[in-house]
Amino acid sequence: MATQYKNLINGEMVTTGEWLDVVNPATEEVIGQVPACTGDDLDRAVAAAREAFKSWKKTSHEERQAVCMAISAAIKDNADELFRLLTSEQGKPHEQAQGEIFGAAGMAKAQSTLKLEDVINEDSEQRNSRTRRVPVGVVGGIVPWNFPVMMAIQKIVPALMSGCTIVLKPSPFTPLTTLRIAELIADKVPAGTVNIITGEDSLGPLITGHPDIDKITFTGSTATGKKIMEGAAGDLKRITLELGGNDASIVLPDADPKKVAEQLFWSSFANAGQVCVAAKRVYIHEDIYDELSEAIVEYAKNVKVGDGSQQGTAIGPIQNKKQYDRVLELIEDAKDNGYKFLLGGDADPSGTGYYVPVTIMDNPPEDARIVAEEQFGPVMPLLKFSTEDEVIQRANDSEYGLAGAVWTSDTDKGVEIAEQLETGTVWINEYMHLSPFAPFGGHKQSGFGAEYGLDGLKEFTYPQVITVKKDSVLA
Ligand code: NAD
Repeated sequence: MATQYKNLINGEMVTTGEWLDVVNPATEEVIGQVPACTGDDLDRAVAAAREAFKSWKKTSHEERQAVCMAISAAIKDNADELFRLLTSEQGKPHEQAQGEIFGAAGMAKAQSTLKLEDVINEDSEQRNSRTRRVPVGVVGGIVPWNFPVMMAIQKIVPALMSGCTIVLKPSPFTPLTTLRIAELIADKVPAGTVNIITGEDSLGPLITGHPDIDKITFTGSTATGKKIMEGAAGDLKRITLELGGNDASIVLPDADPKKVAEQLFWSSFANAGQVCVAAKRVYIHEDIYDELSEAIVEYAKNVKVGDGSQQGTAIGPIQNKKQYDRVLELIEDAKDNGYKFLLGGDADPSGTGYYVPVTIMDNPPEDARIVAEEQFGPVMPLLKFSTEDEVIQRANDSEYGLAGAVWTSDTDKGVEIAEQLETGTVWINEYMHLSPFAPFGGHKQSGFGAEYGLDGLKEFTYPQVITVKKDSVLA
């Protein structure tokens, strides 16, 4: 029988009756079962979080930091077990799973240093006015399947550091490593401050609409983000939404094809392309298009797609069947329209495991589905451009605005272009670097608000202004 994992509610590891199966995307075998929570289970978790909030909101920065450091240490000390479990449920190769586990431990440690200081608005003979930040209360955290551990930690830690308590729901596709972490931290976090419950997608709207949850922090698709915004409107819950992207990479004619080919490849194919900030449209100047596309394809030919637990695998399967079918549909659409493939495009849906070969497209039209939609798979459309104005217009011609990159040997030029891109993050000559101290958030339909840094922490708080009249007759 598959291992059964429990939920964390009010400091206890509990089961709830019904179970959900969790599948390894490399083998399609059931590798674990998790509780299928109902509204009653959610009520219990929210009640525990509400009760815990009464005392947690009064804790000092140092007390909060100690708990978050304990979470960080629990992850780091058990990294070996955790990264193997993560590979088995998410599909990513061991090395990348290790990166996520150590990254989450590091993120918890770094974010536990964040502190929102009071701000003095006025200190005159007449009055003293200051703004303090007060925690919003009970947070509902909803997490996707591409970086399940990192996303869980980047919601739990700032919630705790701001003085909030949290009820977190992992994706039903990837709840195992998060629940194992729940078990590891159950006696390290005060009861009720962190609750982790699992269920189908249908548990999500119950969280969004719950009358005793004060804020939703969500990472996932834009479509679900819109539903969350609607669901949260009933009682004007605070919301932070980290959503989809269709990020453009722009390669200027002065970039050296030999130097950038490998980095460009991984900017699209890391985590099998299932990264919100992956380069999903790669614009290459016409002067270097042929040389660079050839260099990328040559590099790609030696990259092994396979089971992430096997040595030598660099790209794992797509995480779940639904997403696998979607990526295959986009590839089929490209074939039906006669677009040219430089590599890949020939998946075998009858085989075991949700594998898609590395697929590189040669200059498909801008309105091809494989360009205009977020692929979220190992697919890289290479697109040719002639002028800067043209490429900036094409890059910005999207409902999304998450991130982008410019590749050039002239960094001033790179910055000039970056400042014209309508995205929350732009990298010059690198990709996917996120700092725990810098705000990360999407423009346009890629998000609402921000995570990370003090901007991210503020989203878990309300400002409260306290004004003392100094020369009052009552003083
Ligand atoms: P998803 O929106 O399908 O699911 C995300 C989470 O929401 C899951 O836990 C799911 O159970 C829950 N959910 C589903 N329906 C819900 C509803 N109606 N109300 C409340 N919760 C609901 O997304 P996904 O397929 O798991 O993740 C892929 C998407 O996430 C991609 O679009 C990707 O770009 C995006 N993403 C964004 C970021 C970012 O930081 N901007 C990071 C990672 C992934």
